[in-house]
Amino acid sequence: MWGKNHVPRFSFIVGLVTRNAITTRDKQLQWGRITQANCPLCDGGLETSDHLFFQCSYSAQIAACGIGLNWFNHCFWDAALTAACSNNSSNTTAGRVRGIVWSLVIAHIWYERCRRCKGEPALTPAAVAQRIYKEISFLVCGKPELEADFGEVKLLRV
Ligand SMILES: [Zn+2]
Repeated sequence: MWGKNHVPRFSFIVGLVTRNAITTRDKQLQWGRITQANCPLCDGGLETSDHLFFQCSYSAQIAACGIGLNWFNHCFWDAALTAACSNNSSNTTAGRVRGIVWSLVIAHIWYERCRRCKGEPALTPAAVAQRIYKEISFLVCGKPELEADFGEVKLLRV
């Protein structure tokens, strides 16, 4: 999906998510493995891929920290992926940054979800956003904690 701009470390997770191949709680509930399928991030809804990445209030707070790139303009995977593919001008720096941000946001929401399922202490949305920001700035600029303006994409310190 992201062509040469993919980040191998994250593209595996992104590939699973985009194929709806991650084991969200709604699937575990259908399989009879669990009896409750609340989202472990917000505890406010059935955990589906759409909920986790586009409807969850916790994930929305991560986006609100300035890294979401209008992430929550889309509410469902189909619409979000269509928009991402049609807007992914990967030959530009802004397109490259957008692709990296997509991968990192998806991966870090999933990592935090998995951490909580293991009983690890919850990170605040700002702490997750800070992790994403540091990785983006390192991947894109080679330096941690840098503010940069790539035209349509602005990387701001969080
Ligand atoms: Zn949620």
